[in-house]
Amino acid sequence: MKRYSVFAVAREGLRHHLGWERAWRSPAPQKRYDTIIVGAGGHGLATAYYLGRNHGIRNVAIIEKGWLGGGNTGRNTTIIRSNYLQDPSAAIYEKARSLYETLSQELNYNVMFSPRGLLMLAQTQHEIRGYKRTAQANALQGVATEWIEPARVKELVPIINIGGPRYPVLGALYQARGGTARHDAVAWGYARACSDMGMDIIQNCEVTGVTQANGRVTGVQTTKGDIGCDRLGLVVAGHSGVLANMAGFRLPIESIALQALVSEPIKPCLDVVVMANTVHGYISQSDKGEMVIGGGTDGFNNYTQRGSFHHVEETVRALCETFPMVSRLRMLRQWGGIVDMTGDRSPLISRTPLGGCFINCGWGTGGFKAIPGSGWAMAELMAKGEPGPLAEAFNMWRFREGQFIDESVAAGVAH
Ligand SMILES: Cc1cc2nc3c(=O)[nH]c(=O)nc-3n(C[C@H](O)[C@H](O)[C@H](O)COP(=O)(O)OP(=O)(O)OC[C@H]3O[C@@H](n4cnc5c(N)ncnc54)[C@H](O)[C@@H]3O)c2cc1C
Repeated sequence: MKRYSVFAVAREGLRHHLGWERAWRSPAPQKRYDTIIVGAGGHGLATAYYLGRNHGIRNVAIIEKGWLGGGNTGRNTTIIRSNYLQDPSAAIYEKARSLYETLSQELNYNVMFSPRGLLMLAQTQHEIRGYKRTAQANALQGVATEWIEPARVKELVPIINIGGPRYPVLGALYQARGGTARHDAVAWGYARACSDMGMDIIQNCEVTGVTQANGRVTGVQTTKGDIGCDRLGLVVAGHSGVLANMAGFRLPIESIALQALVSEPIKPCLDVVVMANTVHGYISQSDKGEMVIGGGTDGFNNYTQRGSFHHVEETVRALCETFPMVSRLRMLRQWGGIVDMTGDRSPLISRTPLGGCFINCGWGTGGFKAIPGSGWAMAELMAKGEPGPLAEAFNMWRFREGQFIDESVAAGVAH
């Protein structure tokens, strides 16, 4: 693969840009691979990448029923933070955040990581207590966050109304190195690097069955034929229950649509990310100038990847008191993605009852930020057959044993 660089841009400029090669190959599937990953979202691609990079496992296929990055990875609002409450969560999200810091250089692909700072507003007494507690926990975990007072919030976010009648801003949990990255670019960057290592990314190929013998996985059935493998990773977010069913086990997961919307582009007015969990909305400004606004999940389980009008109304109404300028914005488009929710709002990176079959899911409404750390941990699990320190706590049996990793305080609105 030719490296992207300023010299390459100059060279191609002189050649009328006719010399760029395709970023990844689109091969036909082989009969057999050492390892198959189902799902070419960020987590699946990152898993494949770290399998090759960290463990030298390169005979890998990543099978995707649509186009790569077309699931939640290309539908999220791109918030990156690691200010979680529990130790295992802080460890994996901080690992991911720190990998994001140099991901563009690592992949030789600009993922536009923008650590512009992230605020989680406290708008009730309960939230003040919760976020101060998280700030203390983060200090012990080595995650750099701080509690800030309303005047500092106003300094960082001039467009905010801190004196709202119902929900005044009482302070915030601030993570200065939190921020955003370009979601598609994260998928594309990993895909390019995987393809360069000789891995096959097979798009428009749906996995329809999991084959097994003597309690071990032997391969998958797909719309492009049967493919054999020794190791299988299921990394399909909102479809995890469906794939687990094919493999013959049940997961403690619910699938629900989560929605977001963007406004028309406006001049720069917000250079941090703000989450307002009590009124249930969050907002940042994209490089194009659009205000990126996230709302909540649908009130019922479903598999629909689309938006609905009442969510726009509810989310915008919720934000208007805290961000009065939102009332004057025209909204451009809205969409939905199917997220996979566990009861404790923490993910699963786990072996499964089927030998050689591993699962990575349950990132719910907030897994974009975790992609590099999750891929790192899942690759270690798949390569060694045993979880490393990052994945250990996230096994699927914790619900049977009552060892929850309760993140519903930090992650009530998880993004
Ligand atoms: C509206 C919205 C806003 C969000 N905001 C944020 C945020 O701000 N910050 C944050 O950290 N997270 C956010 N998230 C969550 C985040 O997007 C997800 O947790 C993350 O992208 C999950 O990545 P993934 O790779 O596991 O899943 P996906 O990207 O969904 O990838 C799974 C892939 O599996 C494929 N697949 C499914 N079934 C099959 C099959 N049978 N055969 C082959 N392929 C199959 C799908 O087509 C899909 O491409 C948001 C999500 C949504 C929907």
